[in-house]
Amino acid sequence: MTDPMAVGGPRRIRDLVYETFVAEGRAPSIGELSRRAGVPREAVAEDLARLADAHALVLSEDGDRIRMAHPFTAAPMAFVVTPQNGLDDRRWWGGCAWDSFGISAAMGLDVRIDTACPHCGAAISTLAGPQQPPSSGLAVRFPRPAAEWWDDVVGTCTMIRMFCSRDHVEAWTARHSPGAGYVADAGDVWRLAVPWYGHRVDPGFTPHTREHNQQLLEGVGLTGSFWQLP
Ligand SMILES: [Zn+2]
Ligand SMILES: [Zn+2]
Repeated sequence: MTDPMAVGGPRRIRDLVYETFVAEGRAPSIGELSRRAGVPREAVAEDLARLADAHALVLSEDGDRIRMAHPFTAAPMAFVVTPQNGLDDRRWWGGCAWDSFGISAAMGLDVRIDTACPHCGAAISTLAGPQQPPSSGLAVRFPRPAAEWWDDVVGTCTMIRMFCSRDHVEAWTARHSPGAGYVADAGDVWRLAVPWYGHRVDPGFTPHTREHNQQLLEGVGLTGSFWQLP
């Protein structure tokens, strides 16, 4: 089977999906993709299924619409990403803390990220950009090891939340999921998101190899069995 990310076929559909997320903060429907690509709906559905198999995007449970195209998500997931330039009226749902930094990185855009601490409920609002790290002191919890992320990628992203502090991650974890997960500084997650997602919407984007991604994790100190990609 040919590579679904090679130029033509599924790649064209994938690029249209990302174009729509970038411009409008939403996922296109299958009918819309069919019209814009000039191919039948059935062919679009087949292309989407192949892209989902390649983890190039994520479909809904019923397979009839786009759920996520990392770092974008088609439905609210606890993070709102707003351009810092007040004249830009676009908004995006961030799939998780990492993806929220990824949206900024992918578009080369300074943003404000709004969320709430899962432990205390306090509103968290931080600026971030390709050259601008988030506020210091914020922490991000990863719920499960890298090898298990794609077993339920929507569930994984849903649980990669930002907390006001490491103390609040630890208190939350002790109550809800003792002994599980990994706590990272938000600044390290931001440093990871920039190269991980930085080229995602470029016309010439090619998916990273597993080895490349492993090096990116190591580059920000995320090492050991928890961080071993499958
Ligand atoms: Zn808190
Ligand atoms: Zn995510």
